[in-house]
Amino acid sequence: MQYRNFGKTGISISSLGIGTKRLPTTIDGNGRISVDKDKSTEIIRKAIDSGINYIDSAYSYYDGEAEKMLGSALMNGYREKVYIATKCPLWLIKSPEDFDRILDEQLERLQVDYIDFYMFHSMNSINWNDVVLTYRLLDKMDEAKKSGKIRFVGFSYHDNYDMFETALRIYDWDFCQIQMNYLNYDKEATFEGMQLAYSKGIGIVVMEVLAEGKLANPPVNVANTLWDMKSAVEWAYDYVWDKVAVSVALTGVNNLEHLQENIIYANRSYTGMLFPKEEAMFLTAKEIYDTIPLVNCNKCSYCMPCPRGINIPRVFDAYNQLAIKGKEEALKLYSTNKIKANQCSGCKTCEKACPNRVKISEQMKQIDKIFSEIV
Ligand code: SF4
Ligand code: SF4
Repeated sequence: MQYRNFGKTGISISSLGIGTKRLPTTIDGNGRISVDKDKSTEIIRKAIDSGINYIDSAYSYYDGEAEKMLGSALMNGYREKVYIATKCPLWLIKSPEDFDRILDEQLERLQVDYIDFYMFHSMNSINWNDVVLTYRLLDKMDEAKKSGKIRFVGFSYHDNYDMFETALRIYDWDFCQIQMNYLNYDKEATFEGMQLAYSKGIGIVVMEVLAEGKLANPPVNVANTLWDMKSAVEWAYDYVWDKVAVSVALTGVNNLEHLQENIIYANRSYTGMLFPKEEAMFLTAKEIYDTIPLVNCNKCSYCMPCPRGINIPRVFDAYNQLAIKGKEEALKLYSTNKIKANQCSGCKTCEKACPNRVKISEQMKQIDKIFSEIV
């Protein structure tokens, strides 16, 4: 495994980290999805045995099951070999005391005395002002650090460059988690923001390397721009690992085969690994991709549940497949939605929770029109 400096923390971190948002799952007779504990434990332990030392979770993943699973997977000496990162759900904080209560609950779920890397989850200008500043949560982070419950303070991020720059100016963060890939380097924190964080010694964790899977199976015209000496997945990871600012790139594997593949790619990686011609290749791929009309949905599901029962990310996925894979595939996917876009009441409850500010209700109207026309 390759290791990199994690900003000013003094910690050496594996260039590949494991996320717990897309673990293997099981479905019971009532359709309830749960984490498959055995398979997930096998993946986590295999990752650690291969040298991965950074594991990312969150209070909200699988309704808390991800943290519980991680706690038990790290028994038998595995805890000592890794750094645990997890997140404070800002949308559930209604008072300063909620911060302490939730942190204590996470320590219990994870069965640990301390969390190595603790983040505000999905920070944006709304929860920065209404939650972090209103409830003085930066002081709470400092207190938690002093008491030894957490070691390093950070945030995961979904907003624009200006907000990112404001956050960096106001607090001395140890690390941050941002989305970065060759399609979206100009979005959210942006490449420029990443460089700014790096210049301040802030460790950088990259999520969405595959742009929610879009880069694993890119549209044909985008795939055609990628040289065939590497897989689409390896190109996407190499784009990120090439950057000296990046400490660790997360992978959300849900099977051992993908884990093994990503470990091989990580072991081959190093900073400055791309040639100018390869950089130009990514630019062409992005230019082509930007001409494809897609809803900017990363399937995070923060907008769920919809009071009308619409599976919002799944509807958007079907719509995006129209441009990526064509009518047949899109219709097949759309038909798996029992409740279609036309059931949207326009209440906009969902829109407040969307980190990408997708105008969900407007999109639903448009999607309903498009699918009724092509059926
Ligand atoms: S606006 Fe539509 S999709 Fe969003 S929560 Fe309301 S009914 Fe559901
Ligand atoms: S619409 Fe927004 S909140 Fe909902 S899944 Fe997509 S990105 Fe996430």
